[in-house]
Amino acid sequence: MTGLFGLLESVASSDKHRRIEVDGLSFEWTLTRCRRRSVGMLFQEGAIRVRAPRWVSIGEIEEIIRSKRRWLIARHREWLTHQDQRLEPTDDWRDGSVIQFLGQPCTLRLSADQKQATWVAQTAEVWLTLPNHASPEQVRDSVHAWLQQQAKEILAERLETLAQRAGAEFSRFSLSNAKTRWGSCTQDGHIRLNWRLIHFSLPVIDYVVAHELAHLRAMDHSPAFWQEVQQILPGFEEGQREIRKAPLYA
Ligand SMILES: [Zn+2]
Repeated sequence: MTGLFGLLESVASSDKHRRIEVDGLSFEWTLTRCRRRSVGMLFQEGAIRVRAPRWVSIGEIEEIIRSKRRWLIARHREWLTHQDQRLEPTDDWRDGSVIQFLGQPCTLRLSADQKQATWVAQTAEVWLTLPNHASPEQVRDSVHAWLQQQAKEILAERLETLAQRAGAEFSRFSLSNAKTRWGSCTQDGHIRLNWRLIHFSLPVIDYVVAHELAHLRAMDHSPAFWQEVQQILPGFEEGQREIRKAPLYA
């Protein structure tokens, strides 16, 4: 859809970002004038994209947008839900942005007075040692450093706990930054866990940990391997289902 829209746009002229209030919500909308007969509307990335012929006035377009309020509110709600499920912002790294930490949304807060990055569980916020005017790159790097620190402690703890429960012995543990896998285990018992697992809830983390621990006894994915996973973590399927839905990204 986006591709086709892009093509159509090449014959038209786009203009500035406007705002409109609908049901108490403020929406950004952009207008592209083009050679079509009717007014077309899309809801993309939280904003309304309108394509309209030249003879339709701004006032008329605003009226059309308002007449579609049910559609608009529904799309907006879908978009919000989608935003909530994102592990971290794509480029919008600033005070107030939301990341997922241990399976829960967590709001980023910037404060130059902060001595070290701190997570406040009650308000689901993480306070970073950055001034308010920090660049998106600085915010992202600071969040990643904090998440990696958390991952180091929390993943190590889960690994120790589940290894003890399983009576399994690994030789080494390290964090990985792999693009294509959540965890790995070598023949000599070196377990690597992706630091981005820290975005997920404990049942998800435990599933990946149990999976790698089971590889200490079976290097394949045979029925015997899955029996091993089941023994280490009864009910592992829930965490497995969730992690399989999650795409890895750079
Ligand atoms: Zn495996």
